[in-house]
Amino acid sequence: MDAKLLSDAVSPLLEWYRIYKRDLPWRHGRTPYTALVAELMLQQTRVEAVKERYVRFLASFPTPEALAAASEEEVLKAWEGLGYYSRARHLHAAAKVIAEQGFPTTFEGVRALPGVGDYTAGAVCSIALGLPAPAVDGNVLRVLTRLYADPSNIDDGATKAKFAALLKAVYPPETADFCEALMELGAIVCVPNGAPACGGCPWQKVCRAHLAGREEHFPVRSEKRARKVVNATVCVLRCGAKYALEKRPAKGLLAGLWQFPFFEGEAPALGRVLAEKHAKHIFTHVEWRMTGRLVEAESELAPYTWVTARELRETYALPSAFRAFTEWVR
Ligand code: SF4
Repeated sequence: MDAKLLSDAVSPLLEWYRIYKRDLPWRHGRTPYTALVAELMLQQTRVEAVKERYVRFLASFPTPEALAAASEEEVLKAWEGLGYYSRARHLHAAAKVIAEQGFPTTFEGVRALPGVGDYTAGAVCSIALGLPAPAVDGNVLRVLTRLYADPSNIDDGATKAKFAALLKAVYPPETADFCEALMELGAIVCVPNGAPACGGCPWQKVCRAHLAGREEHFPVRSEKRARKVVNATVCVLRCGAKYALEKRPAKGLLAGLWQFPFFEGEAPALGRVLAEKHAKHIFTHVEWRMTGRLVEAESELAPYTWVTARELRETYALPSAFRAFTEWVR
């Protein structure tokens, strides 16, 4: 592959980044720990959704030691609304390792932390440890396959490996800015879903896809698998001033998290139905089509855990899939 195209593109990218980068909370006062928190929060989650929660999370757990000392329930509560809760559990486990052994100083060490894959390890190493470790995700692959007008399938591991090697060969000493500049270009200029804003791109004079007017032909991907649709009934079950909660199974979607009584298909009769509404929630591979019911129960039925509205708000982390029904909790 022609490494010169990318190595010549590094300086214009860094210049562009220094002028146009967004002011994001995790770009201030960064440490390896805060970089790890930010990268895990940002996986599959929009920047706008992360901003405020990142600040709150670090206010609660400013150091790995503080996070390591927290209970799982407290950590999940602080993660509420971000989804993909296994990330929170991994971060908690990673904090325990870091609190004991210190923050790793090599790529392999960071990669060995719980929940950290190649991408996150690369990002944390580049951003916070000054190491030239490429962080290649879908955004970076989109930008690079456009720059090269490369028709390789980006869902193929070999494509990722090829671009990771290419990036490693051109990494400048400003590892943090370079890593973030690539992400930033993918986030605000060379965007997915629709036309990229090539007029504001530092690579518009060299980008092969743009020069050929074929930006939207890249990246090339495999066809997406259709999502499985699950019809379910969610009961906001009330008895006096208390509401019923149950824990999801320890494995699978939203593993071990609290929820309102949830039934695939129809729910059994649990009491008097006061209101009903419909909502859906889309996960990566599954779509829930939910019928929500506010139900008045005659007694605090087993096997549920009964909590007050205040306890529900302050102590129990409820996945955002159920947000449509929390307005019934007063
Ligand atoms: Fe993406 Fe357009 Fe820039 Fe090429 S010129 S990298 S297609 S924004």
